Amino acid sequence: MDKFIPVNTPLLDGNEKKYVEECVETGWISSEGEFVKRFEESMAHFVDRKYGISVTNATAGLEVAVAALGLKAGDEVIMPTFTIVSCIIPLVNRGIVPVLIDSDEKTFNMNVDEIESKITPKTRAIMVVHIYGLTVEMDKVLELAKKYNLKIIEDAAEVHGQTYKGKKCGSFGDISVFSFYANKIIATGEGGMIVTDSEELATKCKSIRNLCFKPERRFVHDELGFNYRMTNTQAAIGLAQLEKIDEHIEKKHFIGRKYTELLKDVDSINLPIAKTDYCENIYWVYAITLKKDYKMNAIQVMDKLKEEGIGTRPFFYPMHKQPVFNNKGMFVNEKYEGAEYISEKGFYVPSGIGITEEEMEIVADKVKKVLKMGE
Ligand SMILES: *Cc1c(COP(=O)(O)O)cnc(C)c1O
Repeated sequence: MDKFIPVNTPLLDGNEKKYVEECVETGWISSEGEFVKRFEESMAHFVDRKYGISVTNATAGLEVAVAALGLKAGDEVIMPTFTIVSCIIPLVNRGIVPVLIDSDEKTFNMNVDEIESKITPKTRAIMVVHIYGLTVEMDKVLELAKKYNLKIIEDAAEVHGQTYKGKKCGSFGDISVFSFYANKIIATGEGGMIVTDSEELATKCKSIRNLCFKPERRFVHDELGFNYRMTNTQAAIGLAQLEKIDEHIEKKHFIGRKYTELLKDVDSINLPIAKTDYCENIYWVYAITLKKDYKMNAIQVMDKLKEEGIGTRPFFYPMHKQPVFNNKGMFVNEKYEGAEYISEKGFYVPSGIGITEEEMEIVADKVKKVLKMGE
């Protein structure tokens, strides 16, 4: 069989090795190292924010964000059902009530027109999550946040360098969070960054990330925090990646255009849309949905692609259908048609920054071959 093409290959062809070598040679491998500060400042600057606070991953970042905003048991937070569990964990663990919104079948992002009807006197925040390369329609969210005095938590894990109406993603939240997991547009293996313009929130986030040590007296605590500190070695890779962000974004656009060209005549699938009124797709992943009348579901197609040597991933599984919540009696009778359709019929193909043009051609051929089986 031909070589397996994995769903993601990162590209580490800049200063990554040099900077990591510097960490090893100088012995600076902990979170106290210089690369951490440099990466925090560069990332904040890149998305036009005042403060960057690095963390171990974006899941930790979202946890810190919820804690720093002072959200408490009984508060309600509006969020999409179609997202990763990382968004909901810090809410459920604190007794905060997640109020779910359905997603659009074409953009995969939450239907912002449904938000206002779900706002109650207990609503404290809206969590926006930009999904798979297109942004949330932010104007409506910003307007509602202002009107009802709500905080915005922005999950920008998938959209480094993406813009909404020309303004950088990661600049919309009271607190915004990026991920640097190996498949993200900037990758450090594991890693994350919180960004904000508020000095007060930045100070809180830094403290919560670092065990809430009292500034005056280490090992004394008024509150409990976490150890979510990023290492200097991770930050070294992150800084090198950020130096090449323009190339990474260009490659993402290229991947999107190329797959669309290769797959445009395939009847059984919907391809990701290239742009909306407010953004161009940055194709964090090349996300395909099977049409409703197509015989196989995504898992069946993915199994066949695996036999053909192609790695894929299914779409997110909606929060309202998660056994962990349904077993607690949460979301039991809730139904969100858009999210259910895309989660059953959606998958993405290899689209990491390291993919070659030749690999994309092989992927497209195999996708066509497998899809014919269900016609
Ligand atoms: C990847 C991802 C996360 C989680 O990031 P980690 O750094 O792996 O914790 C959170 N939200 C979204 C939308 C993601 O895609």
